[in-house]
Amino acid sequence: MHEVPVTPVDPLRLREHIGDERADALERLCREARDRFAGRTVWNVNSTATGGGVAEMLAQLVAYGLGAGVDTRWAVIDGDAAFFAITKRIHNRLHGGAGDKSPLGEVERTAYEETTERAAGELRARVRKNDVMILHDPQTAGLIAPMKEAGARTVWRCHVGSDTSNEHTEEAWAFLRPYVEHADHLVFSRPQHVPDWVDKERVTIVAPAIDPFSTKNQPMDDDTVLAILVRAGIIDADPPAARPVYTRGNGSEAEVGRRAEMIHDGSFPTVDDRFVVQVSRWDRLKDMSGVLRGFAEHVVGEPGIDNGGGTTRLLLVGPSVAGVSDDPEGLEVLDECIELYRSLPDETRARILLISLPMTDVDENAAMVNAIQRRASIVVQKSLAEGFGLTVAEAMWKARPVIGSAVGGIRDQLIDGETGVLLPDPTDLAAFGAAVTRLLKDPDAATQCGKAAQERVRENFLPDRQLTDWAHVLDTGA
Ligand code: UDP
Repeated sequence: MHEVPVTPVDPLRLREHIGDERADALERLCREARDRFAGRTVWNVNSTATGGGVAEMLAQLVAYGLGAGVDTRWAVIDGDAAFFAITKRIHNRLHGGAGDKSPLGEVERTAYEETTERAAGELRARVRKNDVMILHDPQTAGLIAPMKEAGARTVWRCHVGSDTSNEHTEEAWAFLRPYVEHADHLVFSRPQHVPDWVDKERVTIVAPAIDPFSTKNQPMDDDTVLAILVRAGIIDADPPAARPVYTRGNGSEAEVGRRAEMIHDGSFPTVDDRFVVQVSRWDRLKDMSGVLRGFAEHVVGEPGIDNGGGTTRLLLVGPSVAGVSDDPEGLEVLDECIELYRSLPDETRARILLISLPMTDVDENAAMVNAIQRRASIVVQKSLAEGFGLTVAEAMWKARPVIGSAVGGIRDQLIDGETGVLLPDPTDLAAFGAAVTRLLKDPDAATQCGKAAQERVRENFLPDRQLTDWAHVLDTGA
């Protein structure tokens, strides 16, 4: 187990984005939280410091919690390959899929508990009576009972779930229920994700939020965007006058230096090209291969998708597969995409790039994602299942038109035809292709949609709303 160092950030810096009324309310909230948690620690525990939405959100919550004057910490538990294979299986089944089709029985329970018991032992040495433990996702459910025994208040925060139950969700919940039942309070992203047997009085729904100041979302002018994409090797152009700079989470300035790993056929994008982009982990439920196929079969070859001399290309972007320690599926999924890519006709392949971003420096990775999202003409998130889908809010905040599947939290973010396009059936590749083609041909509609998207995020998905929800959870449940 290790603690992730986080630089405190004053929540009131949000004032410029949320206005005085919301900022004043936030100031009062921080004052109350400081009094309430004096002498106590609010712990967040998960299983990876990098890669994916949970790590992204913890960086934000812990920084603002510290900035508010509450001793907020982030601990990451270790696990071996067997543990992460089991927790990935649970994750996939909570989303309604079969995953690797292997069992979730007593053998798996024993292996799971070996890791959670060891982690509980390590945490027990640091946690004091009356501390609050916010335990994130299935990897930490086994810590609930031991942490309660140690005198802490426990909140289990589940970021995943399916809108409907089936045999797979039932199986995953049967595995988790003996742990989760002990929690003082439970938090889910959507009411549909709460299993029937949970006492609803102990549940709060908290939708995630994005931080407009994080390296991932901070403002970036067009020249800097181009400089970053050229430095990362994604766009082929002479080095621009601007430097590929960004601001780190700790406030210091840095430059992008590393190159992305790319699967391409030798023709690099130029400054005139337009990009259709999906950014996600290489996870089957994100359906990168479906995006590839949908673009290849239903967008390439459509008249009018190129404009101004440039070429419209698909960029599938994910973290370098070595970089996300709790996700054993990454390499397999990337390999499947590469195989599919290689099977495409030459002229189609020339329009598609598979990009893995280095994870050695998470801030640099975030700056690359920021630049790619800002440079996108259209962002897609064609997930088959989704807890919330932070990538959607990130793109919306950057005023990008987003086409997303009508699954999980994407449905809470995109209002079809207003703040984005919702695909009722994520497996309908023709409908996906038609939506992409329509927006490519109608830049005015795309711009309009992007503007409305940004306002929707300002209203609903910025950190003050999330901090307020968490204050409520801690008031009632902790
Ligand atoms: N992400 C990233 N680098 C990458 C790919 C993804 O930082 O190379 C981030 C992405 O920007 C988002 C998070 O990982 O912040 C994914 O969160 P989301 O809620 O969309 O999905 P999850 O991975 O949690 O299922």
